[in-house]
Amino acid sequence: ATPTAVMVGTGVGASQGVLIKGGHALESAHKVNCIVFDKTGTLTIGKPLVVDTKLFHNMVLRDFYELVAATEVNSEHPVAKAVIEYAKKFREDDEHHIWPEARDFFSITGYGVKATVQNREIIVGNKSLMLESKIPLPVEAEEVLVEAEIKAHTGILVSVDRKVVGVIEISDPLKPGAREVISLLKSMNVTSIMVTGDNWGTANSIAKEVGIKTVVAEAKPDQKAEKVKELQSLGFTVAMVGDGINDSPALVAADVGMAIGAGTDIAIEAADIVLMKSNLEDVITAIDLSRKTFSRIW
Ligand code: ADP
Ligand code: MG
Repeated sequence: ATPTAVMVGTGVGASQGVLIKGGHALESAHKVNCIVFDKTGTLTIGKPLVVDTKLFHNMVLRDFYELVAATEVNSEHPVAKAVIEYAKKFREDDEHHIWPEARDFFSITGYGVKATVQNREIIVGNKSLMLESKIPLPVEAEEVLVEAEIKAHTGILVSVDRKVVGVIEISDPLKPGAREVISLLKSMNVTSIMVTGDNWGTANSIAKEVGIKTVVAEAKPDQKAEKVKELQSLGFTVAMVGDGINDSPALVAADVGMAIGAGTDIAIEAADIVLMKSNLEDVITAIDLSRKTFSRIW
């Protein structure tokens, strides 16, 4: 392709909301035969909602959410935002309500959060966080987790003073059209893979819904990048599509990094192509544009 063709290609991309950062990115995209998709915020809407709460030890919902909200209000994670939104429902009678103070807050990326609230130690997060904190998992909690994961929901565990007192069930549905995009890519001879920090049960259920066969779950940011490199060493030209800080190492490692426009600045910075409309269909727009630009004789 001539420089003019590349300029035209990038221009057409821009007019369709596909921001291509330079000729090299446009060129690499037509060789892509494997795409690694992040789950949360990429294949799914990324605005999770609380759909159910299971409480043990006679805990009262209103009190439970008071402690959880006080802890999660310090976190930026989409799960935290979902929990706060839900917790507010129990305080609708008091529009000036403020959550109790949380001391010694800390957030463990990919696991959850901890804090001391009203002199009680609160831990909110996944199973690994409970195991790591040496908190025993009651059988009833284990059962709730399995049930949630079958429905493609994520179960968030809550412990108070080292006792698991409840599970918050969170749902983050697929983006409309996600399944069609995966199937269309397949017809274009592009294989799709999913990587996520979420647990295996939920990850497998979502993958099944969207039509992806290969999944890597409970993946930390560097493990997402490792997967990309492994695929490259097998001979694939790999695109990574993601939205989070935790996707940025993989976006950099990929032959073509594509960031969801609604994603974090760090992901957008790390990517070669930005999908401004945050539509998954634009993954195909980008590849099509590259194929057209580099197969045409000008
Ligand atoms: P993803 O790759 O799906 O965006 P993350 O790596 O950010 O996932 O997080 C992995 C898991 O850790 C989440 O699915 C959730 O179970 C747990 N987690 C992370 N942050 C929080 C939080 N603030 N509150 C509760 N759980 C959390
Ligand atoms: Mg994400």
